[in-house]
Amino acid sequence: MNEQDLQAIVSKVINEMTGQKASSNNTTSFKSDLPEVTYGKGIFADMNEAIEAAKEAGRKLRMMPNEFREEIIAKIREKIQQNLDVLAQMGVEETGMGKAGHKVLKHKLVAEKTPGTECIAPNVFTGDQGLTLVEKGPWGVIGAITPSTNPSETIFCNTIGMIASGNTVVFNPHPNAANVSNYAVQLINEAAVECGAFENLAVSVLKPTLDTGNVMFEHKDVPLLVCTGGPGVVKAVLRSGKPGIAAGAGNPPVFVDETADIKKAAEDIINGATFDNNLPCIAEKEVVVIDGVADRLIEEMIHNNNCYYLNAELVDKLAKEVLIEKNGKHVINRKWVGRDAYKILKAIGIEVDESIRCIIFEGSKDDLIIKEELMMPILGIVRVKDIEEGIAVSVELEGGNRHSAHMHSKNIENLTKFAKAIDTAIFVKNAPSYAGIGFGGEGFTTFTIASKTGEGLTNADTFTKSRRCVMSDFLYIR
Ligand code: NAD
Repeated sequence: MNEQDLQAIVSKVINEMTGQKASSNNTTSFKSDLPEVTYGKGIFADMNEAIEAAKEAGRKLRMMPNEFREEIIAKIREKIQQNLDVLAQMGVEETGMGKAGHKVLKHKLVAEKTPGTECIAPNVFTGDQGLTLVEKGPWGVIGAITPSTNPSETIFCNTIGMIASGNTVVFNPHPNAANVSNYAVQLINEAAVECGAFENLAVSVLKPTLDTGNVMFEHKDVPLLVCTGGPGVVKAVLRSGKPGIAAGAGNPPVFVDETADIKKAAEDIINGATFDNNLPCIAEKEVVVIDGVADRLIEEMIHNNNCYYLNAELVDKLAKEVLIEKNGKHVINRKWVGRDAYKILKAIGIEVDESIRCIIFEGSKDDLIIKEELMMPILGIVRVKDIEEGIAVSVELEGGNRHSAHMHSKNIENLTKFAKAIDTAIFVKNAPSYAGIGFGGEGFTTFTIASKTGEGLTNADTFTKSRRCVMSDFLYIR
């Protein structure tokens, strides 16, 4: 069997697993003049070689002054800013998902608000018995898995945090977003070299597969795994036997109570839910609303926020289109993930113009189309009678992911009760979901929200290990 035949089989298996578009050589052929990545600048054919190169780069990095890390990071930020359009277009073209304009904003956010070395501060104890320092040191080569939904954003964001903490990183990007992810890796290495550093602070393989991912998982020189993706990869990292930071799926409900500013709530919810066509894991995935204000909320969505209200008889048709049966289970139809609302409507026989941003409909918390994390501009709306029922329904819909939840309310008691009950890594009050990652909200950004393993919003500090250094009796001047 030759290399091409082997690659075709690997492609077929991956595409069956992910349900995404197939291609005979596991690369996408580009219609446009966008860059097509080849070897070099951190891109290898073989995962073992990639890891070896990252290990050597890590050795060199640790011999450089810490200040130098910030210089490289500043250059990476510049590279992102210079390539906003091309990265956004590459992401849309390769994956077929999302909106280029929104992807520009996501990359800009990464460049501006991903923190660097400032996150890593030592803890110091002094007293009669001397001085103790708790310092944050690097792990070495971190193995990172990245998603198709925020591909290059995650590569840049992870790399900034990982370099800041003195690590290097080997990526196994999502096969369906390999080109744009690897382009990001090459920009990172260009940035390093332009600063007078060296290549391979971040590395990847040209054709990532589950097999190359497994090589990375099992490699003796990869002591820490950081995985951003759905339930499959989270299970894999938790079973790996290595320390792992797992940023898994979410299904964020947004709960609206009767004290909310309904006009603003409708606008914020639709802005959040349609951002990059609902690809972000933090985006509003379903609405829970107290009955007394539900009609007003829905009217605002339809009349002032370009939503299409789907009648009950058509909801079944939509469900059959966006959920498909696989091995006796209903799963999302990948064909529609991150696609425009008007295109989804067309598929069920409804012609609307492109200004329609989101499909809304009413249903019950038990409807699969509401319970599943669709990642499409589709919002199911569930009416509840009061705050208690609203909290209970929202907690159920969040599905125990403990990822993100949002609320529109002016009642501090209600906000507090909901926050405690839902216990998510991110809880946004009275704003679109993206305020939770620092877009129109205070605080730093990240594209890796470690919901499953509890680190929450990751940054350079998350990628360190703690080292305690004790000086007995001296270096104490109080
Ligand atoms: P996905 O789960 O299909 O793929 C994610 C990555 O995991 C890919 O690189 C894939 O190749 C790899 N992978 C999958 N199964 C694997 C296995 N068994 N072993 C090794 N690697 C494996 O995800 P996607 O569709 O690209 O992204 C969407 C999902 O990711 C959603 O569920 C979303 O909520 C989640 N997500 C979470 C975060 C977060 O920060 N928590 C961020 C982005 C996306």
